[in-house]
Amino acid sequence: MAIHDFTSQRLYVEPDLASGREVVLAGPQAHYLQTVLRLRLGDQVGLFNGRDGEWRAVLTSAGKRACTLTVDEQTRPQGSGPDVAYLFAPLKHARLDYMVQKATELGVRRLQPVITRRTIAERVNLDRMRANVIEAAEQCGILQVPVVSEPTDLAKALAALEPARRLIFCDEDAPPGSPLDALAALGPCPMAVLVGPEGGFDPAERERLLAHPGSLTISLGPRIMRADTAAVAALAIVNAAAGRGW
Ligand code: SAH
Repeated sequence: MAIHDFTSQRLYVEPDLASGREVVLAGPQAHYLQTVLRLRLGDQVGLFNGRDGEWRAVLTSAGKRACTLTVDEQTRPQGSGPDVAYLFAPLKHARLDYMVQKATELGVRRLQPVITRRTIAERVNLDRMRANVIEAAEQCGILQVPVVSEPTDLAKALAALEPARRLIFCDEDAPPGSPLDALAALGPCPMAVLVGPEGGFDPAERERLLAHPGSLTISLGPRIMRADTAAVAALAIVNAAAGRGW
């Protein structure tokens, strides 16, 4: 069980991480380390990039505009949980921020905005989504940093799914039943969990979803949830199914 030390500072960086590597930070990250965290030469910080696990690094040079961290040793292996892509109809600002952060905390590997007929958000700010992903990963000790994909329509999103990836369609009209049992019966497999917009899917979209090869329709319970609540419920159940020793 990964016990995370929420007191130690962690920073997401792009470069590869290996012992002895030097990572130069400039701009906001340099400012954050030296002014907000007030790190001084010799102080340590955790670094992760979503690929190489987490590494301890030491501040070895500091300047007004940039600083250098020398990577020391790996403190956590990358590891990987269930292979989940989260497909969702974008919501308006605060709810979308919330949903992106929670999906990251729940370990998804990819965030795929899907524009459906009843999607309310006119445009999707991918930079804002990526910033929310990194903030959630840094704050919660997450090593899996989800890729944020370009928005696409439902037909293209489904067509892009690899044949082995099972579509998990969260459907408020699904017959009652245990989603945990349904997922456990699937067994370990790559998944695409789909939650619709506040107004739900229209009949043609629903027909397409039910006809998608290998799709599994799950009910999240007898109550209709808001989309951001459904995101957390669905991804928590997926994690619970995986935790049953898939
Ligand atoms: N169609 C409903 C609300 C949709 S809620 C209406 O118009 O009132 C938004 C999305 O959350 C749905 O598309 C579905 O993907 C998911 N969702 C909400 N409640 C759910 C439930 N009980 N079971 C499965 N999915 C649910």
